Amino acid sequence: MQRVLVSLAVLFGATSLQAASPLEAHFAADPNQKVDAWYTGQIAKYTTDPSFNTQLTDYLPASDSVPSPAKALGDVSGAPNMLPRLKTVHDYFRLLEASSPRVKVFSIGRSEEGREMIAVAIADEKLLADLEANRERLAQLSDPRRIGLDDAKASELIAQSVPVYYITGAIHSNETGTPTSLMELAYRLTVDEAPYIRAIRSKVITLITPVVETDGWERKVDVYNWHRAHPDQQFPHLLYWGHYVAHDNNRDAMLASLALTRNVIDTYTGWHAQVLHDLHESVPFLYDNTVGAGPYNAWVDPLLVNEWQQIGWNNVDTLTRLGLPGVFTHG
Ligand SMILES: [Zn+2]
Repeated sequence: MQRVLVSLAVLFGATSLQAASPLEAHFAADPNQKVDAWYTGQIAKYTTDPSFNTQLTDYLPASDSVPSPAKALGDVSGAPNMLPRLKTVHDYFRLLEASSPRVKVFSIGRSEEGREMIAVAIADEKLLADLEANRERLAQLSDPRRIGLDDAKASELIAQSVPVYYITGAIHSNETGTPTSLMELAYRLTVDEAPYIRAIRSKVITLITPVVETDGWERKVDVYNWHRAHPDQQFPHLLYWGHYVAHDNNRDAMLASLALTRNVIDTYTGWHAQVLHDLHESVPFLYDNTVGAGPYNAWVDPLLVNEWQQIGWNNVDTLTRLGLPGVFTHG
């Protein structure tokens, strides 16, 4: 969640850096921000070492009208001994939509076993009202033949448009942190009044698919619940992480043989997103972006590779300067 917030803040920057403690000032909370004291206390209680937290996530904003993830989960995102069903995750995003004009939920298709996938747009009400017109402008920019390769027209469209930052979670159903963490990220983006969050809300459409592998997620929750009910027995591992495929479902973009691939590609291309940030869990500490070692597809523009590396290295630099240990990339 911290790295996503940093990525968003850097791309769609808030206040300019100031002389004293520039980074802390950049990410400062609104001094009048109401805080959810109970949720904030639970975050502190469950964080195994204070250095794993930063000012980005060490408090939860409170809202009179928008329910926090605790309403759906019964505890905070990331609490021990909790793995919610897909329905709980999706219902929470629809509750956000019902509670705030800054949230819209879109159904993006179904899995092999008929489970729904969703994409949740979060931005200022004004941006969400302009969603279709913005999409049409981005479509013209993405295929400049439609504007006769006219640079002046492109500049005009860019000035009128906001970019789309698409975040996806749990394509690997064994990597279980992202759905609940994205619930909390969505809540923070919806209600927090910190200047850098307000800048994100007013300058970008954040689009979130909390669970990509919806079939595999339900299987994983089954196994997890069985394990909790039989703590002394060896729990079975998932043969497939979804209906047909295990780990390599995230290589399926080469074939688009799986429903989840087609649904995500259709969303990414249909919204003309500038970034697709697919969240995983792997080695210890916080690994940010697969940059540096390659190999890169030879047909990807080197400018794009450079921008990708800029985001990754900036996240490492920023989170390290905020005191978070072990953030790395270049693997
Ligand atoms: Zn993974």
